[in-house]
Amino acid sequence: MTSKRKQIKKIPISIFFSKDQVPKDYKNFFFEEYASYSICKSDDRVCVDLSKLSGLNDLQKNYKLLLIGQAIKNSCNSGDFFVDYFGCKKTDIKNFFLGWSLADYSFEKYKSKKKRKNDSKIFHNFEKEVKSVCKSYFYTRDLINTPANILGPYEILQSAKKFLKKFTFVDSVSGPKLEKSFPLIAAVGQGADKGKQPILGEFRFKKKMSKKKVFLIGKGVSFDTGGLNIKTGSGMSLMKKDMGGAANCIGLAKLVSDFDLNIDLTLLLCLVENSISKRSIRPSDIIKSREGSYVEIGDTDAEGRLILADAISYACEKKPDLIIDMATLTGASRVAMGTEVPSFFCNDDELAMKLIDISKKTGDPLWQLPLWENYSGQLNSAHADFKNIGNTMFGGAITAALFLEKFVKNIPWIHVDLMAWTRANKYSSYEGGEAMGVRALLGLIKKF
Ligand SMILES: [Zn+2]
Repeated sequence: MTSKRKQIKKIPISIFFSKDQVPKDYKNFFFEEYASYSICKSDDRVCVDLSKLSGLNDLQKNYKLLLIGQAIKNSCNSGDFFVDYFGCKKTDIKNFFLGWSLADYSFEKYKSKKKRKNDSKIFHNFEKEVKSVCKSYFYTRDLINTPANILGPYEILQSAKKFLKKFTFVDSVSGPKLEKSFPLIAAVGQGADKGKQPILGEFRFKKKMSKKKVFLIGKGVSFDTGGLNIKTGSGMSLMKKDMGGAANCIGLAKLVSDFDLNIDLTLLLCLVENSISKRSIRPSDIIKSREGSYVEIGDTDAEGRLILADAISYACEKKPDLIIDMATLTGASRVAMGTEVPSFFCNDDELAMKLIDISKKTGDPLWQLPLWENYSGQLNSAHADFKNIGNTMFGGAITAALFLEKFVKNIPWIHVDLMAWTRANKYSSYEGGEAMGVRALLGLIKKF
């Protein structure tokens, strides 16, 4: 007996960027209205009106396209789809496809009952790229979502080793060697239990013909209690995400190797747990940094900048062409920018402009804040070279960046202060770890 294979029909999703492009026969149908789009669905066609995006600038339009892609995927529960679009170029809707695929993510490793998967598919020309980006994003999200009782400094390092297949694992520094060579990293981690000891991990990806050397440094605080300057309960509740900078850097590094960028990339992971114990660093302790300056601990909860500082010094010794660090560094950045827009700081105006431009095109927001030198006096210390925190309640993201800048020695540098966490919103119910700024930074490294 033979059975006739049923030809699966692909359903078109027609995307219109302006109202007058919507076909006349659709104008009488009922469109469900949402904040940034409206949608009309039948069994053989989906019509999406995006005319509401027309007033937005490129950055916001591209950002929204990604969110809308997620929302539409969630409303198309099954079937095979393709997109035809009106009023834009093919590359302009890339983020729609990325959003569609990002909606596939869920973190259910620790759920006894798994949700049913949405198995609808979309066919397009960016499949390879979207697949790579999703793989990296999902890894980053998984790593951030995994709590600190399961994922400490050692486990983050092991996970990166497994994920970064095309990288050479150069070294991991811990114990007495770390105390000697990276004293600030060792100091922040010294309060942690035996199994959670601080580590600096180093990985390298080097193309033979590469001319540019880039260092990528991630803040990986596997859990941040605040140390002896303990956080409040609500301030601590999300602190498993304080390794989000490291998770984002690993994700970005993976993309650099996936796209085989012609670059010499070193990844440094500063991995610690900021714990409370009799060994924890105290406020007013003075610690000599790797570069030789004396740092007074003004607040043990300003630990991220301490661990990054020694890694930045190490990177500068290797004289790279660019240093990028990513860190969930300050609540002040979130107060200024909200949760979705990471701030960035840069000591090179031309480079900053390049990054802003790529951020717009990719719809991956990064917003520049100033390295306002006049605030640097806030870091003055009566008994050491400087403190790790400013003495006012204002401009905390800036003083944190100014602290880091003290360790940057005449090398182009970008510091990204990100939330690494997304909240449920109008477009998606997903809440948890998030990759942020990674596609923009990838674009910058590509063009660097
Ligand atoms: Zn902290």
